[in-house]
Amino acid sequence: MSERANGELTAMFRRLIRETGPISLLQFMGESNARYYTSRDPLGSGGDFITAPEISQMFGELAGLWLADLWSQMGSPERVLYVELGPGRGTLAADALRTVARFGLKPQVHFVEGSESLRAVQRGAVPGVTHHDDVSSLPDDAPILLVANEFFDALPIRQLLRTPGGWRERMVGLEGDELVFVAGDKPMDAAVPEQWRGADEGTLIETCPAAASVMAEIAERLAGQGGAALVVDYGTARLSAGSTLQAIRSHQKVDAFAAPGEADLTAHVDFGQLSETAAQHGAHVMGLATQGRWLSALGIDARLEALQRQSPENAAKLQRQRDRLVEAEQMGELFKVMGLSGGGWPKQGAGFVS
Ligand code: SAH
Repeated sequence: MSERANGELTAMFRRLIRETGPISLLQFMGESNARYYTSRDPLGSGGDFITAPEISQMFGELAGLWLADLWSQMGSPERVLYVELGPGRGTLAADALRTVARFGLKPQVHFVEGSESLRAVQRGAVPGVTHHDDVSSLPDDAPILLVANEFFDALPIRQLLRTPGGWRERMVGLEGDELVFVAGDKPMDAAVPEQWRGADEGTLIETCPAAASVMAEIAERLAGQGGAALVVDYGTARLSAGSTLQAIRSHQKVDAFAAPGEADLTAHVDFGQLSETAAQHGAHVMGLATQGRWLSALGIDARLEALQRQSPENAAKLQRQRDRLVEAEQMGELFKVMGLSGGGWPKQGAGFVS
């Protein structure tokens, strides 16, 4: 579909902007990513990017181990839901579910996934899965074991800019036929988090209203239904000023306006904000760890050795996969893991120091 579809999306944005004026980056990112994810499998061979579960089975297995440990501590309740947000190819879920089954945990599986083409791939990886458009339709009668890997970074962000006339939203406008950033004309001071209100002129900050509302609902469900959650993403404990918007196509950074719907648009996840939202909505935040430290604490090196013993011919390749996930200069430091629980489930989880 691509080139034509891409042209269509660019033409649609141009038409919209000519008719109604600049659109928010939030709308641009939301519509571009909706098109992007429904029109392809970005993680398949020849895809645009690769994620931790696609690098190694060890990632999903250790996530499963973490969940199974908490479930066992709760006395192994019979009815429990495995929920994953944005499961991609379903690889993480398949690896995690295989692992938890060894402990006797056989949860009902629910995926929140917007893309029809990825839903089809996911049904192949996890037969019998139930799909949801968003978290609101998940069952509410059992504890939840939730995983989200590289889901929050794909949600549309708002950028706010401190101009001489106060805070304005960063919008997408037109210069001739070119999409360009422009400052909006409506005062946006009310959308600016407290700690930024007095920032200097020229300061740019990001917020992610969709991330906040998804996290609020998850936290309420954890509090009400019980359970635990693992959120893994690239980001920081406290987002500093500046744009983190990034467009990736064929493993390369590209201009966000070059080909809307053809590149994956993401932004850093503000884990500090997510933790505050989670706590405000009744969940307990176990902590935040770097992916490298968390995987090490969960025993990735022991798992690596076991896999190497099983297939010595792949020993070097397995080592490289482990290094990619763990080493600081690769994914180990930039990616963070946040643990949450609620409804009387353990307040400590493996890999988090509280
Ligand atoms: N977790 C997977 C895939 C990450 S890519 C992995 O680690 O490999 C992002 C995933 O989130 C894709 O499955 C994409 O279709 C889904 N997604 C992105 N935005 C979404 C939204 N607003 N609602 C539902 N799913 C979304």
